[in-house]
Amino acid sequence: MYDQPTGTTPEKYYNFCPRCGAPLALKFMEGRQRIVCTKGDFVFYQNPHAATAALVVNGAGEVLLVKRNVEPRKGAWDVPGGFVDWGEDPAEGLVREMREELGVRFTPEALVDGYHDWYDSQRLAVSVVILYYEGTIDGELKPADDVSEFRWFALDALPDDLAFPHVREALAALARRRLHT
Ligand SMILES: [Zn+2]
Repeated sequence: MYDQPTGTTPEKYYNFCPRCGAPLALKFMEGRQRIVCTKGDFVFYQNPHAATAALVVNGAGEVLLVKRNVEPRKGAWDVPGGFVDWGEDPAEGLVREMREELGVRFTPEALVDGYHDWYDSQRLAVSVVILYYEGTIDGELKPADDVSEFRWFALDALPDDLAFPHVREALAALARRRLHT
């Protein structure tokens, strides 16, 4: 089960400097507690992971959702997408994820919104920023291992079990956007 983390600092996850192996310590700098090496001058900055998600609407006005087949939130409905790779443009990352996850060619058309959320990764609560792109798909939907099925949902009849808080927010933003265009 996915739980919101109680703390927002990741210092408890790390014990040793990733560059030299010396113990890490906390130091207040640049407005917040930072994780620093006790031997050298390395600051172990902790920034959110970047992720992307696709908002795809069919001709009937229904949005594409996928059922998660991996933890966290296995079995819950989610928007398709995934983490951006190191050095990768976010929209290109989403095109790659849509190809890997659903076997379709995704064409991003507009950046709809961005959200922060917490994500359980390897039993660590990691900070994630998710960018939502509206776009179209080409090809036949073929779910890969990380999703068990896909389904189209009317925007006013979404499933109760959505994987993350930002999914409902983003779908509400999509519904508002479609009313105004
Ligand atoms: Zn060090």
